[in-house]
Amino acid sequence: MPTVGRDFRCSVCGGSASHFSPVLRRYFCDEHFIDVIVERVRRSINKYKLADKLKRVVVGLSGGKDSVTMLSVLQRLANEFNFEILAVHINLGIGEFSKYSEQICRELARKLNVPLLILDLGDLLGVTLPQIVRRLKRPACSVCGTIKRYLLNVVGVEACATAVALGHNADDIAAYILKNFLLQNLSAIRKHGPATDPLDSIAVGRVRPLYEVLEVETRSYVKAAKLPFVEIACPFKPRRYFEASIKKALEFLEDEVRGLRLDFLRRIAKNLDVYPSPSEPLRACSTCGLISSAEICAFCKLTAKVVGEPLGAFVRQRIREAIASLGLRWCKESPKSSQHM
Ligand code: SF4
Ligand code: ZN
Ligand code: ZN
Repeated sequence: MPTVGRDFRCSVCGGSASHFSPVLRRYFCDEHFIDVIVERVRRSINKYKLADKLKRVVVGLSGGKDSVTMLSVLQRLANEFNFEILAVHINLGIGEFSKYSEQICRELARKLNVPLLILDLGDLLGVTLPQIVRRLKRPACSVCGTIKRYLLNVVGVEACATAVALGHNADDIAAYILKNFLLQNLSAIRKHGPATDPLDSIAVGRVRPLYEVLEVETRSYVKAAKLPFVEIACPFKPRRYFEASIKKALEFLEDEVRGLRLDFLRRIAKNLDVYPSPSEPLRACSTCGLISSAEICAFCKLTAKVVGEPLGAFVRQRIREAIASLGLRWCKESPKSSQHM
């Protein structure tokens, strides 16, 4: 367990230890545990050359422990690396769960003094995630993933961001990669390194600052830093799913081979070029102009099915206006600024 009893002493200051890092195999008090995680992310930023990508970064904030940890750590490193941050929360309209998540994100952004953009799906599309799922009869998480990926990319492109940061922890990434290896879906592996590159004006790059931070460590971090985070599960979260079983298997293997998950991810990061790129060429969606593997992107197809017309271009316009109302000045410094002036 990451959180420990009173009898243990912090390995840095000798004070009462509240946390255990399975990576370092040492105990820490709140303050020094925070230092450990910030230092791990700092090293990842240097090792994987993420600093330039994080200059004007859109941070996807669900309000869960991972995205809360990511936002807090990036904010602590902002002065040192000269980062500018815009946090983005997507309210999916999942009843009390979404209301509570939005409230947590607002509270956190105030506490950390980070600008926050809230995108309300019901307001943007006229339908909430549960309504979309009922109409499409597709698994909620797959629909949700398509929508969140699209909206974060729109914010990144419209805000002239250098990247979108995703709060995937090391356990999630390792399980995802292993799942795709087992299924021999090798092109998916290439997209799951510490960063992906942008593509012209149709997609911003993605960065995973928590590439080397374990899930138990993000749980400890939010407690050590006394940050608000969403402690209830989304009602759509499946009870059983393949990645969860793979995570359990990796934890079991880690008992036999200490450091297995991070070693695996470090080797993957070195070997990404070995894995193939997706076979379909990527291009601009003919209706919204953003990244797509077909004539029309997944979001425009999805909205056309649900509300009768593709809403990508409309959503881009609404998000452009929302960003302008925040007074964000990123586009002025960007070579892409002419698109928006
Ligand atoms: Fe979306 Fe599924 Fe996560 Fe709920 S559990 S927020 S539906 S991805
Ligand atoms: Zn200490
Ligand atoms: Zn589109």
